[in-house]
Amino acid sequence: MIDHRRLGRDLDLFATDPLAGAGLPIWLPAGAAARHAIEEYLRDLERRAGYQHVCTPPLGRRELFEISGHLGYFAAEMFPPMRLGEADDELVLRPALCPHHALVYRARGRSYRDLPMRVAEIGGMYRAERSGVLGGLSRVRAITLNDAHNFCALEQVGQEVSEILGLIRAAHAALGVRPAGVRLSRRGPGEKYVGDDAEWARAEELLRAALDQVTYTDAPGEAAFYGPKIDIQVLDAAGRELTISTVQLDFDKPERFDLSYHDSGGVRRRPVMVHRSLVGSMERLLAYLIEVHQGAFPAWYAPVQMVVLPVGDGQAGAAVDLARRATEAGLRVEVDHGGSLGARVRDAARRRIPYAAVVGAREAADGRAALRLRDGRALEPLPVAEVIGLVNAVVAARSGDLLPPG
Ligand SMILES: [Zn+2]
Repeated sequence: MIDHRRLGRDLDLFATDPLAGAGLPIWLPAGAAARHAIEEYLRDLERRAGYQHVCTPPLGRRELFEISGHLGYFAAEMFPPMRLGEADDELVLRPALCPHHALVYRARGRSYRDLPMRVAEIGGMYRAERSGVLGGLSRVRAITLNDAHNFCALEQVGQEVSEILGLIRAAHAALGVRPAGVRLSRRGPGEKYVGDDAEWARAEELLRAALDQVTYTDAPGEAAFYGPKIDIQVLDAAGRELTISTVQLDFDKPERFDLSYHDSGGVRRRPVMVHRSLVGSMERLLAYLIEVHQGAFPAWYAPVQMVVLPVGDGQAGAAVDLARRATEAGLRVEVDHGGSLGARVRDAARRRIPYAAVVGAREAADGRAALRLRDGRALEPLPVAEVIGLVNAVVAARSGDLLPPG
């Protein structure tokens, strides 16, 4: 079975160390390079869709989470509050970013012209998972969430949710996520929920309308405590269903934080808060991507995109020069000098590096390199500028294939 924990170790993506603590993985340079490429992509995608990014702390006063309802409804999944001294406020490691984003909205007066206001952050939060359930990147205590809260007028909700579903589809296509199903997560019996029946019914109706053209399953009992949601599910290597992407409607937090805007007639109104994550947490996403791609990521987020292999010592200078030019062009590149060429080609394939650029005596003399692809394909030697151009074109297109189209 493909296990992201074993591949994570073999490919040096992340480490777990008992000294650091269970459920607190350490991202090694290769894993961090992939994650940063994905984070940059997500911020770019969101910026182009009208999102504004913020930075908020993963720690906040107890009162913030009392107002948000988290301490009332979600305390079992939170670390206990901390107090430094008698004179200090109790502090809480946040279990979600929503309370801080409500404060971003509230930082000044808002009018209908500001809406929809889309507040985004790839931010840290914590869950008090029991040690028995922790493993690799899929169940962790420190979580980095691709999150946003879209504050909008009620009549804007339908359009907003369908735009979010479009962004989710774009992110899945670029990352190589293969959705296994869409779920409408609703209230169930016996759980604790905030808000009244009319609000829940209205929110469910809005989500159903946004799913008009989509096949989905009904999931009673899977809603968040503050509202129903659309969940997009994937299957992990063991065939278990995971939620990667989610869109939730919330009428409750705008009440709790007394959020408002002035409409075109100057009347004070309550916005609706849409919680959404395009790809979930960086931890769960990478656990999934490692398994679904078996470590062979698309070139755009491969930790090392190209390794340069001089055939002999005489080509070392040309290889270093090629690596320098490719690095300056924005690629993540290494030079591998040691051992036989065959062993180095096999090692590059073992590390799932998309491209190996082989530089022999003739190539060095001509200013060329011969590309060998991770999947075994080999190209005729190309001028160095064309080698860099080819790899950059595939990266820029965020293509899953290793050759540009055409
Ligand atoms: Zn939220």
